[in-house]
Amino acid sequence: MSQSIDHPELSAAEWEFLQNLRALPDEALRQRVHASLNELLFFFRNPKCQGIGVEGFPCGDPRSSCDDCRQIWEALDKVAERSKKG
Ligand SMILES: [Zn+2]
Repeated sequence: MSQSIDHPELSAAEWEFLQNLRALPDEALRQRVHASLNELLFFFRNPKCQGIGVEGFPCGDPRSSCDDCRQIWEALDKVAERSKKG
């Protein structure tokens, strides 16, 4: 595989991330993870939707997110809990 892009140095955290990604045994699963991670990164860059937050203001940042966005943050917390259990 040739590297045509001039890659910057990876941080330790980025390298660990890539190793975990490449450790996935199944190509189909890996494709799904690529898609999901990009979607997740989109959410982190844009943690808001067109909804209305709990105090009646438009959905904004994670502290004033609407029910839909709050559910996503709660789901992420659950994933974090599960990963700690191994
Ligand atoms: Zn929202």
